[in-house]
Amino acid sequence: MKITFLGTGTSQGVPVIGSSHPVCLSRDPKDKRLRSSVLIEKNGKFFLIDCSPDFRYQMLRNNNEKIDAIFITHEHQDHIGGLDDVRPISNNMNKSIPIYALRRVLDNLKIRYYYFFSGKKNTTNINLFEIDKYKKFFFVEEYCKIFLLYVYHGDLPILGFRIDNFAYITDASKIPCSTIDSLNKLDILVINVLRKKPLHHSHFTLSESLNIIHQINPKKTYLTHVSHLLGFHEKIQEKLPKNVYLAYDGLVINSS
Ligand SMILES: [Zn+2]
Repeated sequence: MKITFLGTGTSQGVPVIGSSHPVCLSRDPKDKRLRSSVLIEKNGKFFLIDCSPDFRYQMLRNNNEKIDAIFITHEHQDHIGGLDDVRPISNNMNKSIPIYALRRVLDNLKIRYYYFFSGKKNTTNINLFEIDKYKKFFFVEEYCKIFLLYVYHGDLPILGFRIDNFAYITDASKIPCSTIDSLNKLDILVINVLRKKPLHHSHFTLSESLNIIHQINPKKTYLTHVSHLLGFHEKIQEKLPKNVYLAYDGLVINSS
């Protein structure tokens, strides 16, 4: 299984528009972060986790042109803002692209993308599939088992996803014990980090994430959904514990 980090930035991306923060002015390409999303290639199929407002550019710069399914963690704009740009992929593949999300998220998509669903002809390029919040997993086209990871983003219950020994969690500020228990024997964990401090009501800071990583104990961890306030990529990476890495846009990793 191949995982490509399409974007690793927090909701405003890095650099932030108009910011003169040193990290926003950095020339290191690893300090340039589009909004967070990963593309997973498994058995010749392509799964997207979240569809950021930068989706179009992310697909173009990574030379990706196929998506077989999209999994949405939650309905905030930085995670769904690119859905309009799924159209050429659907047209080229000659099929509707299935989108999997909680009922609450799907209801929100139907309002925000009302024009997808309001045409007389069936011009829909996406197909909505509800994830049952009482289930532990679902199947995509009956061949791939996706485990659900329930986490909290402030007060909002949102989803992470586990496929085989790879797990992706973004925008978390609290992870229930039952979810921690389901993250055993991981090869790769991806988890969000906003900044070092102060604490944030809906995103983990670095020390909070490191604490969670210690509890889960995956073989390797990659940090994502990063704000410019965390610091320069190179300097932060130097200080991270063994087997913990700061992800960056375009990074490709492999998981068994
Ligand atoms: Zn976000």
